[in-house]
Parts: sequence; C-alpha cells; structure tokens
Amino acid sequence: MHYVIVGNGVAGITAAFTLREREATARITVISGETDYFFSRTALMYTFMDRMSPRDLEPYERKVYDRKKIERLRDWVVDLDANSRTLRLKSGTSLNYDRLLLATGSVPNSARWPGMDAVREGLAHFVSWQDLEECERLTASSRSAVIVGGGLIGVELAECLSFHGVKVTFLIRDPWYWPVALGGEEAEMITAHLRQHGIDVRLNESISEVKCSAEGRVSAIRTESGQEIACDFLGVCIGVHPAIDWLRQVSTPPRLGRGIQVTPAFETSLPDAWSAGDCAEIRLQDGSALVEQIWYSAKRQGELAAHAMLGDTVAYRPPIFYNSSKFLEIEFTTVGRVMNAPKGCVDFYRRIPGKQASIRILEHAGAVVGFNMLGARWDNGRLEQWIYERRPLRYVIEHLRQAQFDVEFGRLDLSTITA
Ligand SMILES: Cc1cc2nc3c(=O)[nH]c(=O)nc-3n(C[C@H](O)[C@H](O)[C@H](O)COP(=O)(O)OP(=O)(O)OC[C@H]3O[C@@H](n4cnc5c(N)ncnc54)[C@H](O)[C@@H]3O)c2cc1C
Repeated sequence: MHYVIVGNGVAGITAAFTLREREATARITVISGETDYFFSRTALMYTFMDRMSPRDLEPYERKVYDRKKIERLRDWVVDLDANSRTLRLKSGTSLNYDRLLLATGSVPNSARWPGMDAVREGLAHFVSWQDLEECERLTASSRSAVIVGGGLIGVELAECLSFHGVKVTFLIRDPWYWPVALGGEEAEMITAHLRQHGIDVRLNESISEVKCSAEGRVSAIRTESGQEIACDFLGVCIGVHPAIDWLRQVSTPPRLGRGIQVTPAFETSLPDAWSAGDCAEIRLQDGSALVEQIWYSAKRQGELAAHAMLGDTVAYRPPIFYNSSKFLEIEFTTVGRVMNAPKGCVDFYRRIPGKQASIRILEHAGAVVGFNMLGARWDNGRLEQWIYERRPLRYVIEHLRQAQFDVEFGRLDLSTITA
C-alpha cells in the first residue's frame, strides 16, 4: 500500500503521522514544492522579526520523519491521473499511489490594479516560505511600504516591516479594521494601537493605481480618494483562496468549487482520493459548503481524513470556531459566533478601564454563542464549554474570572464587568 500526500502543511503531516500509527509497513510519501520540512505557517512573522530561526518554526525534529518512515519529496505535482493512479511532478518524474490525499492549502489572492503590468520588483505577499524570503530580500532596500488588506496577515506584515524600520501605511477599504471579525469599538482600539506604533492606518481607502520606477520597482500608489503615497514595497494581503488552480489542468480533475469538493468523510469525486485542510470544500450533512482556513481545523481535518483513508467511518462536523492572534501587543481570542452571530443577539461589550483590553459576549435565546476577548489571554476551552453548555450571559459574567489565563503577567481587573 502506498499512501501519497500532496502538501506538507499541518493537514498533510498530521495525516501522515496518523496513518503511520495504524499502518506499520505501508509506504507513506509526502510531497511539497514549498519546503523540505513541515513548518508553522502561523509563526512566519517571528522569523521575519528575527525572534525565531527558520529551524525553530519546524514543530518536529527532522529525524522524526526517518524514524516514522515518512518519505519526503520536494517537488510540485503538475498532473493527476486517477485512472492510472499516477502523479506527474514538475521535475519530470512520476509517482504511483494507492490512496491519495490532496492537502495543498491556500494561496494568496492577487489584484490587478492599473499600472501593475509594469511592476517587476517591490510587490510581495506573506503566505509562503518563498514570500518570507522575498519580503526579507526587499526589506533590505525598502524605506516605506504600503500594505493593502485589512485582515490578520496584513497586520502581521505591517508589524514585521515596522520592526525593521520601514515606514508603513496600512490601507483598509472598510470603515474599520477587519469587520468580519471585530466590532467597531474593538477595531478602533486596534487602530489606535497600530497608530501609536507608527503605522499609518488609512480607513475607507483602496488602491486605484500602482506606479513604478523606470527599472520597474514600485515607487508609489494612488488611492481611490486621489492621494499619492510613495512606497518601494507593496504588500498585498487581500485574503487567500484554496490552492486548486493547478488541478483545473490535470488529466482527471476532482470536482472543484471554491475548493476541492469533498464529502464529510473527505472523499473527493475521484476514486481513492481524499482532500483536507485549507484546500477542501466540505459539503456538510445539512447541505452547506464549508471552507475552513485556520490551523486547528486543518490539523483536525488531516487527522480525520487519515482515518477515512484507513477505512474508518468519518463524518466531519466543524468544531466551535476558535482562533487566537495578536495585534502587536494586544492579545486576541475569538470563540464561537461573533460578527456572524444570529440576528437579535444580546451584544455585551465592555472596555476595561485604563487598559487596551475589552470583552464582547454574544447571547442568543438565553445562551452565550460567541466571545471576542482583547488585551489578555483567555482559556478558549472554558469559553467553548460555556457555549456547549448553553450558559446564559449572566452566568458567564459571574464566572468570567475562571476563563482568565494570564496569571504570569497579571489578570485583568474584571470588577467593572461583574458589577
Ligand atoms: C501569515 C499567516 C498567518 C496565519 N495565522 C494564523 C493564525 O493565527 N491562526 C490560524 O488558525 N491560522 C492562521 N493562518 C492560517 C493557517 O496557517 C492555515 O490554515 C494552515 O496552515 C493550513 O494548513 P494546510 O495544511 O491546509 O495547508 P498549508 O499549510 O498551506 O500547506 C499546503 C502545502 O501544500 C503545498 N502544495 C500546494 N500545491 C502543491 C502542489 N501542486 N504540489 C506540491 N505541493 C503543493 C504548498 O506549497 C504547501 O506547502 C495563517 C496563515 C498565514 C499565511
């Protein structure tokens, strides 16, 4: 039996390790065009800011792959023929599989603003290892940057460039930063924090034109409101989409939608081929389609897809949404449904006096459904438990202290909230 996994991200590697736990002798091969070893994409920024070495980003010791007999292949898959169960690689070689997992992750969205065709240098994304290398190379010769796109990756790139002394203008097309995740009050606090750190945040702004020098290096952008902002680095952080474009040209493409369409058991439309992680579009039992592009979901999906490949009965149900991040020094934990909460919710929002910290709790039909917590560390397990248990807002507020993590650096004073 030869299991082949395309993609060495968290979904692919978790699947490989899960397969090995049950399959002592099968051949397992993981292919990736990006890097030789699995790394933590969520921590890319710490390498850019010289806080972690590239090797520190690898969650496993390299010898683990040999010990578990996981073969690694550094190459791009360019063709998939499900009839002969063959993958063709960019290097010209081919590989046969018995069971295949497509775990190809996400790629950045790109934009076509007027003037872009002439640009040869100065444009960067921040998603892949190659993006990191390009960002590091460009930073050495950059004085000012424009970052476009008001999400998490944009703020990370802005922080990294500021750290290296590059003057950053952050263009956000919405009236406030990251409206799919944050309420206006929260976004205002983050925006003030970014500005305090010298990042020039412009709201309701988008690019109308990109200008470049005679050599093709980005030199300025014009905005829809008619301003011109000089820059030699243009960071495009306008979201990601499933890495499926390459599959449109293969001999036998799997059924594609927003991602690779799979059943709740991660089966694609091709025989003996499964898909998991950022690239998978799961058609859930209620008929809705789900593309999850977050780390913990990719890990869980990789594990379950491996079980499905081993013949277990699997029916994926998305867990309660959880994500955590940092906006420079402000910690962020979000659990459940917040900006996408059902209509008619009670929206309990409090800013902690004297701190860059706030709490937002959503209650629907007498039960809490979501949390947005800023400025301290929170135990997401406890917050999830309260959602599962359908605890009312009053109960949660009375017990909120139990979900506070931050004993090392001091707890938030919640007295104004519990009062
Ligand atoms: C800067 C950044 C910060 C993030 N921060 C967070 C965060 O704070 N919290 C969170 O939950 N999520 C975060 N994410 C998202 C998270 O990293 C992803 O959800 C997760 O990495 C997805 O894992 P995956 O295994 O599905 O895919 P990936 O990690 O994308 O791995 C897929 C691999 O497959 C390879 N591949 C693709 N096509 C081919 C091919 N044809 N041939 C060979 N190899 C191929 C790719 O090159 C890649 O190496 C962040 C993402 C980025 C970019």
